[in-house]
Amino acid sequence: MLVDTFGRTATDLRVSLTDRCNLRCSYCMPPEGLDWLPKPEVLTDDEVVRLVTVGVRDLGITEVRYTGGEPLLRRGLPEIVRRTAALAPRPQISLTTNGIGLARLAGALAGAGLDRVNVSLDTLDPAVFKRLAHRDRHADVLAGLSAARDAGLAPVKINAVLMRGINDHEAVPLLRFCLENGYRLRFIEQMPLDAQHGWSRDGMITADEILARLGEEFSLAPDDREDRGSAPAETFLVDGGPATVGVIGSVTRPFCGACDRVRLTADGQIRNCLFATDESNLRDALRGGATDDEIAERWRKAVWTKRAGHGIDDPSFLQPARPMSAIGG
Ligand code: SAM
Ligand code: SF4
Repeated sequence: MLVDTFGRTATDLRVSLTDRCNLRCSYCMPPEGLDWLPKPEVLTDDEVVRLVTVGVRDLGITEVRYTGGEPLLRRGLPEIVRRTAALAPRPQISLTTNGIGLARLAGALAGAGLDRVNVSLDTLDPAVFKRLAHRDRHADVLAGLSAARDAGLAPVKINAVLMRGINDHEAVPLLRFCLENGYRLRFIEQMPLDAQHGWSRDGMITADEILARLGEEFSLAPDDREDRGSAPAETFLVDGGPATVGVIGSVTRPFCGACDRVRLTADGQIRNCLFATDESNLRDALRGGATDDEIAERWRKAVWTKRAGHGIDDPSFLQPARPMSAIGG
């Protein structure tokens, strides 16, 4: 098992399949993009599957989420999903995507064994989308969303990040859209993980603000039907339910004490936290001929040293060198 010194156990593996992306969301990367990882440094499909196999078979990973960058840009994705679904014990398999290309791929991914999908959608307005993501692809995201629902990848979850002065007037319309279309909406507080280091505590829209705005139009009651467990989202019944909305207060309502996540970057580094400042290099171990047992041992050591919390409020907080797109959100 992957345990740390605070007694937490990591069972949820987030695998970044690429640091590349076809959008440029301003809370994530600059309009001109970033220097992408050179291809030889990126794990091959076989290497990804080998590391995921060690995680699932030997280290107690029960949930595998493929992310990025934009994971749909990875040509081998359906085959990676198919091979993940063949593992024993079979993990839950999910995908976090911006939705571009999902209209074409949702059926193949569901057929390969994908269980669930989270699609990022921050606005209902194509002009705001273009301003926020620097690409004119809003219609592709909406098409991807409905294809995911039609392919049975239900419940389709939507992730939304609100930015002051850009899309913060859309909390209510986004929720209304999700209620009408059967999508499950979760707002995520903006975190200091953008490549440009443009985040500021004063600029971010807080969970309290999001709830206040939603509360003007809907009645929200804490959803006590299920134990929150390690889930980062606080969930609320909307107008008595059964529909819900989630708010992930990563900054103002941290859930580090219940965190069960561990991350594998596209270049094969284990990160025990989004905000970790060090990494453990499984790729070089693997390419250097390490056995599965040796890889598992290195992985255990990497998780053991996980810090108690992200420490964003600590005066000594340092934003990690890798931006979100290169870690895997
Ligand atoms: N490209 C895919 C997507 O956008 O869904 C997957 C990778 S993206 C890094 C994963 C999630 O992280 C998205 O929902 C995105 O909105 C979120 N995200 C990116 N930068 C963020 C930030 N600085 N703060 C909070 N969430 C962020
Ligand atoms: Fe790309 Fe996702 Fe980052 Fe947006 S949030 S730029 S879609 S990786």
